[in-house]
Amino acid sequence: MGIYKHYFHKYKWLFITAVSCVFFEAICDLLQPTIMAHIIDEGVKNSQVGTVLKLGLLMLTITAVGACFAATRSVLASKVSQSFGADLRYDVFTRIINFSEISADKIESGSLITRMTNDISQITQFINGMMRIFFKAPVTCLGSIILAVVLSLQLSSILFLVIALVAIFIVISMRLSYIRFAKVQYAIDKVNTVVQEYLMGIRLVKAFGRYKDEEEKFDRTNSDLANKTVSSQMVIAYFSPLMSLTINFGIALILYVGSIFFGRGDIEVGKVAAFINYMAQILASLIMITNVFNTFVRTKASTERVNEVLNSEEDFKGSEQTPGQGLGELAFEDVTFAYPSGSGIPIIKNLSFKIKQGESLAIIGPTGSGKSTLVWLCLHFYDLEKGTIYLNGMDIKTIDCNALRDQIALAPQKSMLFTGTILDNIAWGNPQASKEEIIKAARVAQADDFIQLMPSQYESNLGQGGVNLSGGQKQRLSIARALVKQAPLLILDDCTSALDAVTEAKVRRGLRTMDADKTVIMITQRIGTAMFADKILVLDNGVKVGFGSHQELLESCNTYKGIFDSQIGGDMKGVAYGTGN
Ligand code: ATP
Ligand code: MG
Repeated sequence: MGIYKHYFHKYKWLFITAVSCVFFEAICDLLQPTIMAHIIDEGVKNSQVGTVLKLGLLMLTITAVGACFAATRSVLASKVSQSFGADLRYDVFTRIINFSEISADKIESGSLITRMTNDISQITQFINGMMRIFFKAPVTCLGSIILAVVLSLQLSSILFLVIALVAIFIVISMRLSYIRFAKVQYAIDKVNTVVQEYLMGIRLVKAFGRYKDEEEKFDRTNSDLANKTVSSQMVIAYFSPLMSLTINFGIALILYVGSIFFGRGDIEVGKVAAFINYMAQILASLIMITNVFNTFVRTKASTERVNEVLNSEEDFKGSEQTPGQGLGELAFEDVTFAYPSGSGIPIIKNLSFKIKQGESLAIIGPTGSGKSTLVWLCLHFYDLEKGTIYLNGMDIKTIDCNALRDQIALAPQKSMLFTGTILDNIAWGNPQASKEEIIKAARVAQADDFIQLMPSQYESNLGQGGVNLSGGQKQRLSIARALVKQAPLLILDDCTSALDAVTEAKVRRGLRTMDADKTVIMITQRIGTAMFADKILVLDNGVKVGFGSHQELLESCNTYKGIFDSQIGGDMKGVAYGTGN
């Protein structure tokens, strides 16, 4: 419940004011039956119109004052609960932004969305409800009991019996509903995930004609959500009437016993009426308390889920040090790494290599050999199991993470574009970049030609995720974005895979002419891309099987020679790619 303490501190005064209003409102409610008893027993019984009018006016005034308090606390409750919700959403969002890769692997995005929306609204509703009724119900309940006891001690024994029974019902219903409410929230997660996955793979679903399966999958998760919600509501459905029944039974008993007492002249009519009134108030407040408890139980499940996000592991910060400016020297020393969420088998094994500033390195290897993993390690998304990665001679673990990532420009394997113009998408890599720099980067990435053919050139709008572009066009924009960043180390993770050989060669040459000091790492499965690099690292299953120039590897590395022969063949020897370096 730490989050509540944290945010309440901020709204302390509004909260205290609202609670005070609730308190006074409850007092106003509590006074009514006693005044009514006086009206009946003194005014009506003795036919004193003056007393009836005087006490009636007092009752009216108290009601009006109570209404003013009620209105104030309602306004304050809305303000505090909504501000609380907004703050919490903001904090959860910033935490998600700063997620470590380990946390991101752990909580699915569908679940994050439920936590940001549904779970937080649950918490907001709870706070609102709490400020409106949670404090009123106990005050009314306790006050009614005290005033009822003052009215008639004899009748109160029935009251205590009823309260004891209802308290038992409340405890049992809370126990039963907690597990069910937690399940409901997880079922909402599943519905979100299914919808999200469908939307992401909408074209694939169409191409494979798997509508029916997707529909069934959704139907299953949707029905599951409905069933779990019904099951959680069942608890309330059974217990609410049971409580009302008990209390109404109590009222009937009081009427019966009250009539006997009245017959014996032990009690006045007005007092019996007031007693029943208090009993009704106790009933109302107990039902309110049960509702609040139900919301509380549901909110407890939500709070834990939100807390899980807030307490999740934050991205590494590294230390305060910043790396030397403008160098792009990278070295791996005996690096071994296994994904924390994986099977524990290392994906990179005892890897060592070094490239100097201005050199180009190609990393080649079959799919799943750990090439992209290597990139994530350079960016310090994960900690190593063993070994050290050096950037400009400094252990990257000792470098401030933001400063480290400033030194590296990445065009990832899966191009990510955002809704907005082409210009926005390229400038995303470096918001300070001038239009000239953006156009220059687009030219080097061979994107300028197709951009010029678009209806509004650089101002053309992209659909969500760049749906209106081809795979190769997206890759080129993604390369241009990495280029405008002007970082000393440029990493292109297999992002020329969708380009034809000629365009790809143009990109490669462009990169060389753009900045000779830039260190470039090109990850690829094509030998035609790799062969022109200064150094080539051949990876197989996370193990370095070759490192050197094209010629050296042809002579010394069988795996490399095997790839070369299978892709280019003995005779052609790169003729098709003879565009040179
Ligand atoms: P490709 O050429 O297909 O892009 P790759 O060489 O880039 O392949 P990686 O993406 O580095 O391969 O993956 C290497 C291995 O690591 C794979 O076996 C993959 O299953 C595993 N892996 C990748 N990402 C994760 C992750 N987030 N959690 C656990 N295992 C992962
Ligand atoms: Mg990869």
